Amino acid sequence: MDDFIYRDPGKENGEEAGQALGVDGAVRSRSTGLFCEGVPLSRIAREVGTPVYVYSYNTLTRHFRVFDEAFDGIPHVICFAMKANSNLAVVRSFSALGGGADVVSGGELFRALRAGVMPSKIVYAGVGKTVSEIEAALKAGILMFNIESQEELLAIDGVAGRLGVRAPIALRVNPDVDAKTHPYISTGLKKNKFGISIEQAMDEYERAEALPNVKVVGIHQHIGSQLTEISPFVDSLKKTAELVRKLKSRGLGIKYIDVGGGLGIRYLNEKPPLPSDLARAIRPVLEDLGCTLVFEPGRVLAGNAGCLVTKVLYRKSTQEKNFIIVDAGMNDLVRPTLYQAYHEIKQVITTDAPEFLADVVGPICETGDFLAKDRAMRVPQPGELLAVMSAGAYGFTMSSNYNSRPRAAEVMVEGDRYYIVRRREDYEGLVSGEEIPEFLGEKAAHDAQRARQGTR
Ligand SMILES: *Cc1c(COP(=O)(O)O)cnc(C)c1O
Repeated sequence: MDDFIYRDPGKENGEEAGQALGVDGAVRSRSTGLFCEGVPLSRIAREVGTPVYVYSYNTLTRHFRVFDEAFDGIPHVICFAMKANSNLAVVRSFSALGGGADVVSGGELFRALRAGVMPSKIVYAGVGKTVSEIEAALKAGILMFNIESQEELLAIDGVAGRLGVRAPIALRVNPDVDAKTHPYISTGLKKNKFGISIEQAMDEYERAEALPNVKVVGIHQHIGSQLTEISPFVDSLKKTAELVRKLKSRGLGIKYIDVGGGLGIRYLNEKPPLPSDLARAIRPVLEDLGCTLVFEPGRVLAGNAGCLVTKVLYRKSTQEKNFIIVDAGMNDLVRPTLYQAYHEIKQVITTDAPEFLADVVGPICETGDFLAKDRAMRVPQPGELLAVMSAGAYGFTMSSNYNSRPRAAEVMVEGDRYYIVRRREDYEGLVSGEEIPEFLGEKAAHDAQRARQGTR
């Protein structure tokens, strides 16, 4: 369920849709079409420009609450996976409800702290943590590091020793289960780069326990993303629970079981389990272990709470295909290109134009630059607005400046107001940090010109 709805105020208010008299006497078109909460997307596009990401605050927080309530009665922390959407306003929306953060870099840690996440609710995963990132996390006092390798464990022990602290750690175990999702977002198989195999985990835990500057506090797993079945969660957690029992019997202090993220969402016709289904399935597996559960949901909280609004620039038809060229490209939303992902595309203002099959493509000079392929849609007019749905997760965070395209603006809607939560990047922003070295500077340019003149 989300808060992107079509509205026809004429019907809603029992009035005629169409023209209405504004306060200043000007005739205004009454707003209809696709709304985010109480705000027409057409208004946001007009005032902020396109492409623009639009997030619904009330959908974000409803998703958080639904997840939270599903685990009522079990001690738990919900650490939003920031790589799904790291906008400060989004992260704050969750932390204000008691949420924490799952970070995978020093940059995300910085954002989490800036957004006001309590350090004691931050978990830090990722296979390549650097010394300075480890230092920053130790100084902040995070809940725990999720360790991905033995060498990383030794590095953290070293840094903690230097700082005179003990680093709280969990080992990320790889339970070797098939998450039955796209290979690029499957992480819990033996062949994946993540975690420590569950067979080696016991030895690694004993090695960790013997280190002077780390403290074993938990266990972590994360088997993949966009999971649409419950069984991989249950199968992997059974293995993890068995290991926890063994660890406890050897006196290791496992306080936290970090279940990871991965719950899928509906993009097209998937029927992913609800948080309550997940809770019902895993409660019996984990309940009697007496641990606090940590969850790292990303997509399920943010995915269907956002869309990307883009404008149609041109249409063209070849003998093979119809193309709709829009002002958002793979640099703004890379999921279709990277994962052949499906995103529903809606007209912001519905029309009764005839339907055709078209590829919706961006302005980037790459054949892979598309948002949809062979999509049945109404023939749009240039200037028409389209909303690319389910873009609240892994949308803006995966965007880039490829083709020197400034990054899109981000907007958050709350009720009938909207807020720009990240302004559109400008051209100066695009080159900030770049420099032309002196040897290429004015004098060099002058010399080059003289050399050319001399050869005439
Ligand atoms: C990506 C990731 C998540 C979030 O995954 P979702 O599918 O968005 O819920 C959680 N934990 C870790 C370690 C991750 O890498």
